[in-house]
Amino acid sequence: MKTYKFKLYESRKNRYLKRVINASASIYNHCIALFKRYYRMFKKHLNHFRLMKHIAKLRNRNNYWKLVGSQVVQDIIQRIKKAYDLFFNHHKRGVRPPGFKKVKKYKSFTLKQAGYKFLGGNRIKIIGRLFKFAKSREIQGKIKTLTVKRNYLGELFIQIVTDYTEESCGVVTGKIAGFDFGLKTFLTVDDGTEIQSPLFFNQSRNKLKYANRNLSRKEKNSRNWYKAKYALNRVDEATTNKRKDWFGKLANDLTNKYDVLIFETLNLAAMKRLWGRKISDLAFRTFLNILEVVASKKGKIVHYIDKFFPSSRICFHCGYKNQELELKDRFWDCPNCKKSIQRDLNAARNIKRVGASTLRLEDVRLPMGAILARA
Ligand SMILES: [Zn+2]
Repeated sequence: MKTYKFKLYESRKNRYLKRVINASASIYNHCIALFKRYYRMFKKHLNHFRLMKHIAKLRNRNNYWKLVGSQVVQDIIQRIKKAYDLFFNHHKRGVRPPGFKKVKKYKSFTLKQAGYKFLGGNRIKIIGRLFKFAKSREIQGKIKTLTVKRNYLGELFIQIVTDYTEESCGVVTGKIAGFDFGLKTFLTVDDGTEIQSPLFFNQSRNKLKYANRNLSRKEKNSRNWYKAKYALNRVDEATTNKRKDWFGKLANDLTNKYDVLIFETLNLAAMKRLWGRKISDLAFRTFLNILEVVASKKGKIVHYIDKFFPSSRICFHCGYKNQELELKDRFWDCPNCKKSIQRDLNAARNIKRVGASTLRLEDVRLPMGAILARA
């Protein structure tokens, strides 16, 4: 499977697609309400085939809902069903049931086989109307779904999923690496490589702060307030895109170099306590999500060690545990064996060692394990 995302050219016609998204939101919310009511009355899951029939009937009488094709309705209902299944199976782990969504925040609708047609070049027909998109590359494979998306700025995109499978482009290097996340240095690799946080992390944080402050000074729902809100959304969008781009490149780089990548399980609450400020903007979790996807495409392994392992407090050389180590101590000076080593590097080496041993690389039931054993 391969996913493409193209931006639709700005046009008056885009308003039509936005209306379809809004109408989808209205159907979505109606379905959620029905699910909830049905559950209250019968303590049972609403049968989604019956729901589909019911919505089809309503659609015949409602011109607004008629904008939304039956396939899109099917997709909405299937998505709600999936979300409920997830909730029923994992509610103990904190998964919440799907809820109502604000129409403004509802983002997309999905077409399956019908409802769109590529007319060659950068032209596409969506629900009978012609649109143009910024075709940045050729589409490979047979198209399975087409999703029309809008972002917070009101720009529209088409996202296409095809059945195209890329040849696994992972090159086996036989290398394992341990990584430690940090504040200044984004990642420290156990071989001593340091990957610095790019400058724009800080810059965009300042920009966001400025845009936020600007918004808070405006009278709510005034013309200027909407302007400021738009500006904030634009900064936010740009930041997210830049960061995603950097993360993607880094993930690609690391998976080219290493076959097995070992990290500590992120304990965000503990990190917040330790570092004493919002660390969500460092987006370690986002990076790991991207890395996992890239790695699985190339047949590489991302492995996590237990968060209770004190990777930074233990000496890599002699195993001595220093309880007094503080955050400001940038160097690990071992009181036992007298070795001095950079703190994050010591942690990364420990993470690698523990990870490699818990993975027991020779009997990993993943294709990579077999390759590594042969290498
Ligand atoms: Zn030591």
